[in-house]
Amino acid sequence: MARIERAEPSEFETQVPLVIVGAGAAGLTAALAAREAGVGEVLILERDATPSGSTALSAGLVPAAGTRFQQDAGIEDTPELFAADIMTKAHDEPEAALAQRVAAASGPAVEWLAERFAMPFSVVTDFSYPGHSRRRMHGLPSRSGQELVDRLRQAVEDAGCDILCDSAVDTLFVGADARVTGLSFTRPDGGRERLGAASLILACNGYGGNRDLVAEHIPQLSDALYFGHEGNQGEAVLWGEALGAKLSHLSGHQGHGSVAHPAGILLTWATITEGGCQVNLEGRRFSDESRGYSEQAAEVLKQPDGIAFTIFDERIAGICRQFEDFRNLEAVNGVVSAWTTGELAEKLKLPAATLTTTLEAFEEAKATGGEDPFGRNLADAPRLQAPLKAVRVTGALFHTQGGLVVDGEARVMRQDGTAFANLYAAGGAACGVSGSQASGYLSGNGLLTAVTLGRIAGEAAGRRLAGA
Ligand SMILES: Cc1cc2nc3c(=O)[nH]c(=O)nc-3n(C[C@H](O)[C@H](O)[C@H](O)COP(=O)(O)OP(=O)(O)OC[C@H]3O[C@@H](n4cnc5c(N)ncnc54)[C@H](O)[C@@H]3O)c2cc1C
Repeated sequence: MARIERAEPSEFETQVPLVIVGAGAAGLTAALAAREAGVGEVLILERDATPSGSTALSAGLVPAAGTRFQQDAGIEDTPELFAADIMTKAHDEPEAALAQRVAAASGPAVEWLAERFAMPFSVVTDFSYPGHSRRRMHGLPSRSGQELVDRLRQAVEDAGCDILCDSAVDTLFVGADARVTGLSFTRPDGGRERLGAASLILACNGYGGNRDLVAEHIPQLSDALYFGHEGNQGEAVLWGEALGAKLSHLSGHQGHGSVAHPAGILLTWATITEGGCQVNLEGRRFSDESRGYSEQAAEVLKQPDGIAFTIFDERIAGICRQFEDFRNLEAVNGVVSAWTTGELAEKLKLPAATLTTTLEAFEEAKATGGEDPFGRNLADAPRLQAPLKAVRVTGALFHTQGGLVVDGEARVMRQDGTAFANLYAAGGAACGVSGSQASGYLSGNGLLTAVTLGRIAGEAAGRRLAGA
């Protein structure tokens, strides 16, 4: 339940300068920034027993432009190029000013995390993500979101912030002057606690775990596997609606067309961008996979049984092994290997003749350097070499991208265009930069707005509290 009730600051026994709801990448980054901005007491409330969120499920790759990591790798990039890529992928739907703001904040945010909190980021140099004109994905050594959230949590604890787990926030309180005055949360034993807050940052992600909201806003994925964090129940959206906040692009989301099934492990899209493809249970390709993994979720789900096979080769598998997910997938025998197309068809139980024709046509399009019948440009795609690899996959909903519209300081906006004085949103709680469609999601838009808006919200809250 997400409720709004009335209460004045004087009605709370305990007052905290800054409360943050949610201990994922957005909330933890916001806490670090707020502490650095001089906020004496920062409290994060987290519904789980341990901070994890969708952040822990992710590959932990944060896109950032113009970093020293890119410079060291000889990659020339700028925030302007990054913002242009965001806008192109999202069909010019997002607020251009927000796209520019987060693109400009991305490089400094990754460098700040690396230098100030000793987080050993490096840039992914050996493959590109669809829609990015430069290689700008930055990750930690394991290339896993678990490492990202663990390191952020450690930094937050070292910085002296409190994380109160097992605390599900259900009610926000608002005073007569329309400022947020506090909140209440439920403990696992059913006990309820109230807390006054001078400032509040919503970092509780979107509504991917709320089936009713998904059915309402993303009906095409209402029956799809939800691969994000179950605790993301959409309170930010529901509180925002009740408060008269401006909400936008609620149908926007990140899907993924390559979740190993039934293993339930993410298969990196490097399998496709490096020259692989997907076939259905009939052994036929069915789409231009290179458009992006997000829009591919719906394409895969349209196939018989909602199943596809991602086919690649040993060279590509070598690139994929930098990801913990891929190593785990191999460990549970989720990657099939075969020396010939016939052997692969037999192992995958696909019609051998059709699969052979499909892969021959795919390789032929590479050899002739043209577009395939689906419009995929295969001119620069390396040819697949034996041994071939394949993974049985399905399409899934990863997270939602619409939400609370924020200004340049990550303050939540009202429908009338004014900002709430002391209410901020970051990460999946805020409307991101992907527009209203799955195809608008540029790889990394999720952690981009978690890390940048989290930092911006923490700094802005700190400035305002200091000035108050
Ligand atoms: C499998 C997968 C792979 C992904 N890979 C990438 C990637 O490589 N790069 C990228 O940019 N993005 C990726 N994403 C998206 C990315 O994970 C999210 O966009 C990002 O983690 C959002 O961060 P967040 O802090 O907003 O939310 P979360 O990390 O989900 O944190 C929100 C926290 O709020 C808590 N919470 C929710 N409601 C309440 C409440 N009422 N009271 C208290 N606590 C509450 C939740 O328990 C959770 O811990 C991926 C997503 C998935 C699912």
